[in-house]
Amino acid sequence: MQTVQDVAALRAVVRGWRSQGYTVGFVPTMGNLHAGHQSLIKLARARTDRVVASIFVNPTQFGPHEDFERYPRTLIQDQAGLAEQGCDLLFAPEVATIYPYGAAQTVSVHVPQITETLEGAHRPGHFDGVATVVCKLFNLLQPDLAVFGQKDCQQLKVIERMVRDLSLPVKILAAPTLRAEDGLALSSRNQYLSKEERELAPLVYVTLQQMRDLVSKGHAWPAVEQAATSKLAKAGFVPDYAVIRRADDLGVPARDQRDGLIGLVAARLGSTRLIDNLIFD
Ligand code: AMP
Repeated sequence: MQTVQDVAALRAVVRGWRSQGYTVGFVPTMGNLHAGHQSLIKLARARTDRVVASIFVNPTQFGPHEDFERYPRTLIQDQAGLAEQGCDLLFAPEVATIYPYGAAQTVSVHVPQITETLEGAHRPGHFDGVATVVCKLFNLLQPDLAVFGQKDCQQLKVIERMVRDLSLPVKILAAPTLRAEDGLALSSRNQYLSKEERELAPLVYVTLQQMRDLVSKGHAWPAVEQAATSKLAKAGFVPDYAVIRRADDLGVPARDQRDGLIGLVAARLGSTRLIDNLIFD
């Protein structure tokens, strides 16, 4: 697997593939790769002739008091893992390559409405940073297909809307959430957890499952949300939200809606913020 940092090198490789008629799949990441990321590579592998991963800790999607500086950067390890999964090319650009005028002066992509709630409400500007960097990466690479995790469900919806609204010629594929044996969704941020916090962390997924079960037994979702929030708070989390939304657009469902729902939780445990979701099938 080749690693390239600059745009000319990236384009040269992709141009070579295109001239041979190969399709190109893309998996954007912030690195510190785990089995969840690997599963995205595998999905892309199965659908396209060549697979590109990117590793870029994107400054514009972090708030001023978030973990940009301490976000784990493990390039050597990540390269080995990607090669093992059959990734063909790693794009690992510098910040100046992605933001030639500086991150503060970038042209910005704003996806309205869906970005105003949930993560967007708790992390102002986050989805502008995500949409902007993904749009830039799509322009640089021009992939046929890009894979995103259901774990970051709202991010997936934001990208889908951006692609449709800007007529970007990329197919977006959603990948299921990979979990540890105890149910905790794999995340690069899990390593911030202390031993005690790590033992408590699976409660997020347990709570989502209980939310689903209560709704399926006919409980009204507002009461289920309240019970979930207080359960997490009692256990020592600081919940940002534990809510039930429409799975298709993350809007607030009708009181008696039973189908097409999703549970979403974001909660802090010590200094670590965990997010997860579960579609209520
Ligand atoms: P990140 O490096 O955290 O920005 O994630 C890169 C991609 O991997 C995003 O599309 C995430 O949704 C996806 N991802 C992160 N964690 C998981 C997981 N546990 N299972 C599946 N996909 C994941």
